[in-house]
Amino acid sequence: MALVNEHYLKLKAGYLFPEIGRRVRAFIEANPQAGVIRLGIGDVTRPLSPAIIKAFHEAVDELACEETFMGYGPEQGYEFLIDTIIEKSYNPLGVQLKSSEVFISDGSKCDTANILDIFALGNIVAIGDPVYPVYNDTNVMIGRTGDADEKGYYQGLVYMPCNEANGFTPNFPRRKVDIIYLCFPNNPTGAVATREQLTGWVDYALRADAIIFFDAAYEAFITDPAIPHSIYEIEGAKRCAIEFRSFSKTAGFTGVRCALTVVPEELVAQTISGESVHLNRLWNRRQATKFNGVSYPVQKAAAAVYSEEGWKQTREIIDFYMENARIIRDGLASAGLTVYGGVNAPYIWLKTPGGLTSWDFFDKLLNECHVVGTPGSGFGPSGEGFFRLSAFGNRENVIEAVERIRKSLM
Ligand SMILES: *Cc1c(COP(=O)(O)O)cnc(C)c1O
Repeated sequence: MALVNEHYLKLKAGYLFPEIGRRVRAFIEANPQAGVIRLGIGDVTRPLSPAIIKAFHEAVDELACEETFMGYGPEQGYEFLIDTIIEKSYNPLGVQLKSSEVFISDGSKCDTANILDIFALGNIVAIGDPVYPVYNDTNVMIGRTGDADEKGYYQGLVYMPCNEANGFTPNFPRRKVDIIYLCFPNNPTGAVATREQLTGWVDYALRADAIIFFDAAYEAFITDPAIPHSIYEIEGAKRCAIEFRSFSKTAGFTGVRCALTVVPEELVAQTISGESVHLNRLWNRRQATKFNGVSYPVQKAAAAVYSEEGWKQTREIIDFYMENARIIRDGLASAGLTVYGGVNAPYIWLKTPGGLTSWDFFDKLLNECHVVGTPGSGFGPSGEGFFRLSAFGNRENVIEAVERIRKSLM
C-alpha cells in the first residue's frame, strides 16, 4: 500500500471560507429577499484594462500563425517582461536588478509555497499572527511542524503576534530564527512597514543570518510616498531577502495568473558543513525542473501593464479600489468603530465593537446588515476580536454596506 504524506493530516480542515459560505447560504435560504453584500473575499472585481486586453489578444493571434507561433518559453520568463519590470517597477525606486534575478511565475501563492523546496527542513521559521494562511499551511505540509495546539499554533513554528500594541507590525522573534515571512502592505490587517521598520528587519536578518521572505503583493496600493514598495529599497536587503510580487491584485490578474519572485545573486545560505550556496542558483534549478513558464499571451498582457496606457488604466482601477477603502474606513470610523488599514492597502481591519468575538460580529453583520466580511480569528489567534472588510467590491455595494452598518450601530 502506498503511504501518504501524513503532514497533510495535521492541517485543520479548510475552515474559514467554507464556514463563511455555510452561514451565508443558511441565511439566504431563510431570508431569500435580503440583498446580501459580500465584502469578504480577497478577489478583484474590475475587468482587465483595455490596453492589457489588447496586448493579450495580439499575443493570442501570434500563436495562430506559423511565422509567429511560440512553443515553450524560458522557464524563468521572457526577457521582454523581466526587463520591463526592472525598468518600470524597480529602477524608479532606485533598485537595480539583473534579468537573472527575476523569475516570472503563475502566482505568488505558489512561489511563497514552492520556495520552501530549496531550504532545509531544520530551519526555524517565523510567521505573523494573523497571517496569510498559505505561509502557515505550506510549512505544515512540507513537514516542518508538529501538530496544532488548541489555539491553532503549530508546534515548531514561531508566531509573531500583530496587534494594536505593535501597530500590527510584528516585533522581532523572541528566539533565533532562520526564515522570516513579512507581508507589507499586509493581508489581512492592511498595515504597512515604514522605512525605519523595514531597515530594522533587514539589519536584524543580517545580524541573525536569517532570510526574509518579503511578500509585496499589495505594493501597488501604497499611497503614502514615504512607505517603501520593495524591501530592496533598504540597504543590505539583497543579502538577506527574497521578494514576491504579483499582478493579481495590482492589475486584476487573479484569474489570468502572473507573478514574479526576486532572488538576488548575492543572496546565500549554507550547507550543514558550512559552505555558502547561492540561492539564485537553487531557485533557478528548481524552476527549470519543476516549472515550464507562464504562457506567452499572459506575459505579453503583464508587460502591457507597464505601457503608458496600461499603467494609466491600471492606476485608475487601483484608485477606484482605494476610494472604496476610504469610504469604508471613514464611514465606519464616523459610526464609532475603531478601524485600521485601508490607507495603503485594500483591506480594512476593524475592531469588533463591544468585545464581540470575530464570529459573533460576523453573525451580527450578516443578520442585521446583510453584509459579509471575514472574521479576523480565521487568520490566526491574534486576529480574534477583529474583522476584515475588503475594498474590492463595486461602488454601490460598498456605499450601501457602509450605510447599513452605520444604521445598525448608531
Ligand atoms: C492575493 C495574495 C497574493 C497573490 O497570490 P497570487 O497567487 O499571485 O494570486 C500573495 N500574497 C498575499 C498575502 C495575497 O493576499
